[in-house]
Amino acid sequence: MDAIILLGAPGAGKGTAAERLVKRLGVRHVSSGDLLRSAVKQGTPAGQEAEGYMKQGKLVPDELIGRIISDLLIGGGPDLHVLLDGFPRTVPQAAMLERLVLAQGGQIRATVLLEVAENVVVARLAGRRVCSACATGFHVTTLPPKVTDVCDACGAALVQRADDNPATVRNRLAVFAQDTAPLIEWYGSRKLLVRVNGLGGADEVTDRIVQALP
Ligand code: AMP
Repeated sequence: MDAIILLGAPGAGKGTAAERLVKRLGVRHVSSGDLLRSAVKQGTPAGQEAEGYMKQGKLVPDELIGRIISDLLIGGGPDLHVLLDGFPRTVPQAAMLERLVLAQGGQIRATVLLEVAENVVVARLAGRRVCSACATGFHVTTLPPKVTDVCDACGAALVQRADDNPATVRNRLAVFAQDTAPLIEWYGSRKLLVRVNGLGGADEVTDRIVQALP
């Protein structure tokens, strides 16, 4: 197993780049946010536990998301190449991931930090729309669907995420600064951090990521 980690503030473009990297690199996209939203939608015990935290823009407990991710990765074998989007988000999650990957004889190939100024991410999140069925991401001005509010990929309705309202966005950015920013140092000290400018079109940013990967 090897893993590429996408790191960045909410709205930095992790999900949009991930959709393209899956095709370019042949990796499997593992989005912790998508996994949690799907658990909430299905009303599983994990989803019921996560829902309150997510509505407030808070992180769900490390143990809860750690369990979901390890269930996915354990036993993946040498052919599993994952692109982790939204996990890890705290130092304890990063430590857990490192143990899990090493125990399986795998490696973390790189951690890509998508750098975007805060005013840009706020504007991106305000205009973000996601497909209610397949979770493909759009933006009302910078990445509009061909037909307003209809997913290009599957034809289902586009919606605004419940946690993309201004108050929750403020919380999510504060949580990023407090809990996730320390990961930049954590991966930097392990010589695994690659910084990529996240400003620009989705394809342009994806090209930069591919070029920056070791
Ligand atoms: P995202 O789609 O990555 O922005 O995640 C949406 C929400 O899911 C976050 O605001 C958190 O409430 C929760 N979440 C996603 N990934 C994690 C994680 N690694 N640790 C804790 N909470 C998470």
